[in-house]
Amino acid sequence: PVHRTTEVQDARLRLPILAEEQQVMETINENPIVIVAGETGSGKTTQLPQFLYEAGYAQHKMIGVTEPRRVAAIAMSKRVAHEMNLPESEVSYLIRFEGNVTPATRIKFMTDGVLLKEIETDFLLSKYSVIILDEAHERSVYTDILVGLLSRIVPLRHKRGQPLKLIIMSATLRVSDFTENTRLFKIPPPLLKVEARQFPVTIHFQKLTPDDYVAEAYRKTLKIHNKLPEGGILIFVTGQQEVNQLVRKLRRTFPYQPPSKDAAKNGKESEEEKEETKDDAESKDDADSTVEDPKELEFDMKRVIRNIRKSKKKFLAQIALPKINLDDYKLPGDDTEADMHEQPDDDEDQEGLEEENDDELGLEGESGMESGQRQPLWVLPLYSLLSSEKQNRIFQPVPDGCRLCVVSTNVAETSLTIPHIKYVVDCGRQKTRLYDKLTGVSAFVVTYTSKASADQRAGRAGRISAGHCYRLYSSAVYNDCFEDFSQPDIQKKPVEDLMLQMRCMGIDRVVHFPFPSPPDQVQLQAAERRLIVLGALEATKTEKTDLPPAVTRLGQVISRFPVAPRFGKMLALSHQQDLLPYTVCLVGALSVQEVLIETGVQRDEDVAPGANRFHRKRQSWAASGNFQLLGDPMVLLRAVGAAEYAGSQGRLSEFCATNGLRLKAMSEVRKLRVQLTNEINLNVSDIELGVDPELKPPTDAQARFLRQILLAGMGDRVARKVPLADIADKEERRRLKYAYHCADMEEPAFLHVSSVLRQKTPEWVIYQEAYELQNGDSTKMFIRGITAIE
Ligand code: ADP
Ligand code: MG
Repeated sequence: PVHRTTEVQDARLRLPILAEEQQVMETINENPIVIVAGETGSGKTTQLPQFLYEAGYAQHKMIGVTEPRRVAAIAMSKRVAHEMNLPESEVSYLIRFEGNVTPATRIKFMTDGVLLKEIETDFLLSKYSVIILDEAHERSVYTDILVGLLSRIVPLRHKRGQPLKLIIMSATLRVSDFTENTRLFKIPPPLLKVEARQFPVTIHFQKLTPDDYVAEAYRKTLKIHNKLPEGGILIFVTGQQEVNQLVRKLRRTFPYQPPSKDAAKNGKESEEEKEETKDDAESKDDADSTVEDPKELEFDMKRVIRNIRKSKKKFLAQIALPKINLDDYKLPGDDTEADMHEQPDDDEDQEGLEEENDDELGLEGESGMESGQRQPLWVLPLYSLLSSEKQNRIFQPVPDGCRLCVVSTNVAETSLTIPHIKYVVDCGRQKTRLYDKLTGVSAFVVTYTSKASADQRAGRAGRISAGHCYRLYSSAVYNDCFEDFSQPDIQKKPVEDLMLQMRCMGIDRVVHFPFPSPPDQVQLQAAERRLIVLGALEATKTEKTDLPPAVTRLGQVISRFPVAPRFGKMLALSHQQDLLPYTVCLVGALSVQEVLIETGVQRDEDVAPGANRFHRKRQSWAASGNFQLLGDPMVLLRAVGAAEYAGSQGRLSEFCATNGLRLKAMSEVRKLRVQLTNEINLNVSDIELGVDPELKPPTDAQARFLRQILLAGMGDRVARKVPLADIADKEERRRLKYAYHCADMEEPAFLHVSSVLRQKTPEWVIYQEAYELQNGDSTKMFIRGITAIE
């Protein structure tokens, strides 16, 4: 029996799902797989585990709940423990490197990645009686793979007489990928809709869509706070830095003077400067590929189990990579403090306000507070990597006389329901990880969200009463630039990555895997070929069966890195000769578009080299010492190294301007370096290796090793010079002076003018990128990022 406090009981009774407990539990008892859909805030995440607990599901085995976000896993386990009056040793959480799970744990919240890892060692999930996949609408790669795996695990558990329940929860009704996919579930699982009280939300678009949406969000918040009746404000921006920036600015404008010495609470505090990475992605393509062949259904579960037994974790123990310490290292240009100076002065803003009419808030009729009233604002940040105590403050009572204002990333879209919100300010953007189709490299960029996301965000304003959503963009932008829905992550990410990961789990026939929305088959095949070339899969097929090629030991190591396998391979090889700092830097630089400003890239080739005034400098960089060994990538490495050093001396923007580097790209490179370094540090123990901003040029020997590593990673991007001696025609010889034959391409590609190897035109080269340019009616292929093979 559960003993809840009356306060908790009262709060629960207000949740729509509570009225439906009986029906929900009946459906779950009668069906192995159930889908539950309900508006954010209807009580799915906090209540369903309690229903199950009270129905006895935690008596012999655990109730497992997965969340795509760490923040939700932690917050929800704490909330449920509190509501149930149970210790955290019984209602616990586990995220990748942290948790409070004990042998007594009955309800376990975890990230979807954690559960996937558990499947690697216990395929039948024998410790669980129920698995709840929460936030399935987010379509994270791990959740999608879990759905596929569990669609097979559930019947297997049934066969063994130890049934496992699967509950898929979604904040939207867009669940047809789960219900109508007969490869996934032969019998469509029942869909339970939880009705939620939702008050109308008035949407206000802006006439214009400003680029500086953080400044605009600030302005809008001031107006709301000064002019509109009480009710919490929720502001959506894209990342942690923006959140902190806005929080500080709002706190400065509306300081809260606490009566007691609690002062520090809402005051300035130094938030951890970690990068928010768990934000969702979005992309433009709408590839929708399904598999028709019924044979594909025979996804071989027994083999998977056998493989898992074989492989297990032994590899982890063997991998020993150096540890880099990038802690505390900051570029001045990348500092939020610095950003602050660009903001308009607070007081100016205040004055400007009086002159504007209420029109802009769209609320003439609704008379609110006295304008200009300086009620304190209780400003709280919210993002994934915020410590859980700080996250929890959004649920704590607001001090008397204050208005709540939460500045959040899209964590508040569906993962956490913030109480008392009446006004939503939506910047309409999110941080997205985009993948380059050509290189497979990824970069974080800010893009518009989808219409579905925008509507979710707006919905946050209608939980307590009629609300308002202020969109910091025009309706034209919404109509023309916002996709309807985000595409599932699994269809956006490069699949060699995914394929390797699944193969490392022992899923041999990735093509047969029941994905809710499968990645393109052609892409899967291409991925397999590339993994073979990389040495991540065996080159020869297993003889006795028709199984796809096995994962190599190198493949196991590569799969640990959060980058495309080709770069993972480069990193995996770099623990030798102290190369890791260089490789991390290089992989970071190669993963960001246009670090070096190129004049000729977007146009046709033969813009005279002089057209790029930085060209000569780059030539000289490439020519000196061991730099010539690596060609173009070395120019990149050297440029980034020098820029980082200049940054440590406070001269970053100056350096970028005089040397033709994109300032923004440099800060992206640095973020990626930090991320890679963190990931390496988290995954690999042992050796300590300091990184200081001054990346010393590699020694000759190191440069040679680096070239080998580059070749190892880019082995499928080899090109050979078109043999000019065989060409009789003089004109033709001239035309083909810079032409190369690339593997897989019929037409020759031309060395791009930016390459420092254009004078040499080496016989054999590898390239980082091949791309096509339109020139009138014809197109022409170019390759860039050239390294000579000698
Ligand atoms: P759903 O999963 O359907 O979106 P939740 O179960 O997350 O809904 O939330 C139900 C209610 O519980 C919401 O009103 C939310 O504000 C409240 N709630 C969640 N966590 C806390 C907490 N830590 N403190 C107070 N209220 C909370
Ligand atoms: Mg929820």
